[in-house]
Amino acid sequence: MQAQIEEVFNSIQGEGTYAGARQVFVRFQQCQLHCAYCDTPKSRSISGSCSIERTSGKGDFHSVKNPVDRDFLIDAISKLWSPSTRHISLTGGEPLIHADFIRELDTEFPLYLETNSGFPDEARKLKDVIAVASCDIKLPEHDSTRHYDELLKNELETISIFSDCTETFVKIVVLPETTIASLSEAVNGIASIDQDIPLILQPVTSKIHVKTGQLFKLMDFAAEKLKDVRVIPQTHKMMGLL
Ligand code: SF4
Repeated sequence: MQAQIEEVFNSIQGEGTYAGARQVFVRFQQCQLHCAYCDTPKSRSISGSCSIERTSGKGDFHSVKNPVDRDFLIDAISKLWSPSTRHISLTGGEPLIHADFIRELDTEFPLYLETNSGFPDEARKLKDVIAVASCDIKLPEHDSTRHYDELLKNELETISIFSDCTETFVKIVVLPETTIASLSEAVNGIASIDQDIPLILQPVTSKIHVKTGQLFKLMDFAAEKLKDVRVIPQTHKMMGLL
């Protein structure tokens, strides 16, 4: 089996509860959404080549033809693995579009999934092979889709599927225009699944900063329903990492 992959490299996870953990990132191509803040726009569509880092952390990429097959990918990951590397981060784009391929990876390296949570049927295929699920919920102001209610329903179903059987947290990007009103449906939805699911509020990385007072208000609101609410910015951007 083969998949369209944008790039493979070793770096430090910069988001969520595993910020600081070393991972080999496999960035898949294709995404069904169009978030206003997307920082990987190139990976949203298909291209004929995939960039593979030769040496862990060096950024010495070479190009191979897409699609990439399973054995080639596992070999590239093995060459990039290092003693402090903890997971393969399946990211994108949207990795759940490639659920059948991921299922066939059949690897002993622990799998860390970064998903927009939009495909519960695909999530079901992977629920027993993922070690950690980082599940996004999009807000109306993210402008990710014209079918927001349907997306939110799918996101909550995906979170429910993963949280039943694996370590799961939810990540929500906060924009300067994010309010308690725009966050409330997402928070209530997570709480209705399990109040113990960690919620990470991630201030958008942009020239216009999200104000501290706004973050405090959103945290306090979410913490009335959820037990573990944190603010974690994109730390890899602070360090100038990939
Ligand atoms: S889900 Fe991720 S890859 Fe897709 S558009 Fe949104 S930010 Fe970009």
